Amino acid sequence: MDLIQQQLAAVNQRIRQAEADYLRTPSSVKLLAVSKTRSAQDIEAALEAGQMCFGESYLREALEKIEQLSTYSLEWHYIGRIQSNKTKLIAEHFDWVHSVVDVKHARRLSNQRPSLLQPLKVCLQINVSGEKTKAGIAPEQAQEVTAVIRDLPNLQLCGLMTLPAPAETLDQRRQPFRELRALRDRLRAPDLPLATLSMGMSDDLEAAIAEGATIVRVGTAIFGPRR
Ligand SMILES: *Cc1c(COP(=O)(O)O)cnc(C)c1O
Repeated sequence: MDLIQQQLAAVNQRIRQAEADYLRTPSSVKLLAVSKTRSAQDIEAALEAGQMCFGESYLREALEKIEQLSTYSLEWHYIGRIQSNKTKLIAEHFDWVHSVVDVKHARRLSNQRPSLLQPLKVCLQINVSGEKTKAGIAPEQAQEVTAVIRDLPNLQLCGLMTLPAPAETLDQRRQPFRELRALRDRLRAPDLPLATLSMGMSDDLEAAIAEGATIVRVGTAIFGPRR
């Protein structure tokens, strides 16, 4: 096994352990391997060890890798900032978008989603901690945005995503994740389950799983430090 495969196995082990520790259903947390800045070869090492879902933040390099790896049936998740002039490429090449922060982008993604593909699965990125420098929908606006996006024909609104500020202790780390889950509980409806909570990264995936994460987005712990 090469290093990436060993580290991937260790991350999967952490996830399974956290599921057990916090009484989550076994295998209910999905690992998204964040492969931004990594080579297609690094991704191949991970996929040979069974990892099929990859997250990318930079569109240009993502499209190159999606093309290079098109013989595998991988699931590609866009997790980066969305620029209006790039929505078409995102709508055409990705299965998921975690980083929807406004209605205008969502409308464009829906209009530009090719009709031969399944609806694009999306999460709303929520700025739970209210940091000024962070992208994301303010929690107070989430209801209004949800009401619009849920009805866009070529999107499937699956849930919420957040990217909190780093914190020291497990309790501090759990706080924003708990708030995201509580917000999800307020927004959901019988015909809108919002089952996805995309939260937790290399340093805080245990805290996120404790609070109900269904997708953790992990880069460094699998692929090593980014250059
Ligand atoms: C880079 C990135 C990650 C992965 O972070 P690591 O600390 O390397 O695990 C997760 N989510 C988003 C939105 C990112 O941009």
